[in-house]
Amino acid sequence: MQKITLITGASRGIGAACARRLAADGDLVIINYHHSAEAAQKLAEEIGGIALCADVSDQTACEAMVQTVLKQFGRIDALVCNAGVAAAGLFQCMEEQTIQRLYGINLFGVRNVIAAALPSMIQQQNGAIVTVSSIWGEVGASCEADYSASKAAVIGLTKALAKEVAPSGIRVNCITPGVIDTEMNDNLDEDAKAALCEEIPLGRMGRAEEVAAAVRFLLSDEASYITGQILGVGGGF
Ligand code: NAP
Repeated sequence: MQKITLITGASRGIGAACARRLAADGDLVIINYHHSAEAAQKLAEEIGGIALCADVSDQTACEAMVQTVLKQFGRIDALVCNAGVAAAGLFQCMEEQTIQRLYGINLFGVRNVIAAALPSMIQQQNGAIVTVSSIWGEVGASCEADYSASKAAVIGLTKALAKEVAPSGIRVNCITPGVIDTEMNDNLDEDAKAALCEEIPLGRMGRAEEVAAAVRFLLSDEASYITGQILGVGGGF
């Protein structure tokens, strides 16, 4: 039976790489996006999936998105909570709106989508969830306290929820990417990228496809006895 997989923030970057990888493995992929409608639609046509708009920070929108999927396909087998935003700045200089956006999308976005999809997974007594945190959620980044905190919370949520839903046959794991070459890092100039690469044992930024390979593994039956785990994809950073 074809797996129905919902990926948030899949219009580009890591989410789009996950969509391509999972579709190549045979999944029917639902590409969630917020602003990038054209890119999401194009990707949906490329991989034979469907694109659905929802702001993950909006609980009602997440519920509506999940209901649309359930109405059309009857179930959700796998969920990748990938949508995220970054913002850097001194802790005391962060604007309230930016702080709300960081936690709203990075933490509550994960919570909202899982909360919407979980009842159907519990009903089917089966499901796999992968959350996308960040290495900064593990070690903290200077001038990214709120981003780091939002991502650290995702790790806590993953570990706790994994224990809670394991008896229902649902696995929950987390990926912590290091520095991955996506639009999220477009603000870094070449010198900043080179300096970062010097700190990365493998000596380079990661590719979105390398994160997608880890997501694919954690969602697959090959990871059937793995839950509550945090898998770093950071070149040894
Ligand atoms: P990206 O290229 O900036 O893509 C972000 C994606 O998130 C886009 O598809 C965007 O869709 C979506 N998104 C943003 N706000 C959303 C919202 N409110 N509702 C639904 N979708 C939303 O970023 P990326 O590098 O692929 O990052 C993906 C994830 O990996 C994020 O959680 C990020 O924190 C994490 N991560 C990235 C790195 C890195 O170095 N790149 C490192 C560690 C962790 P729209 O354009 O349609 O809004």
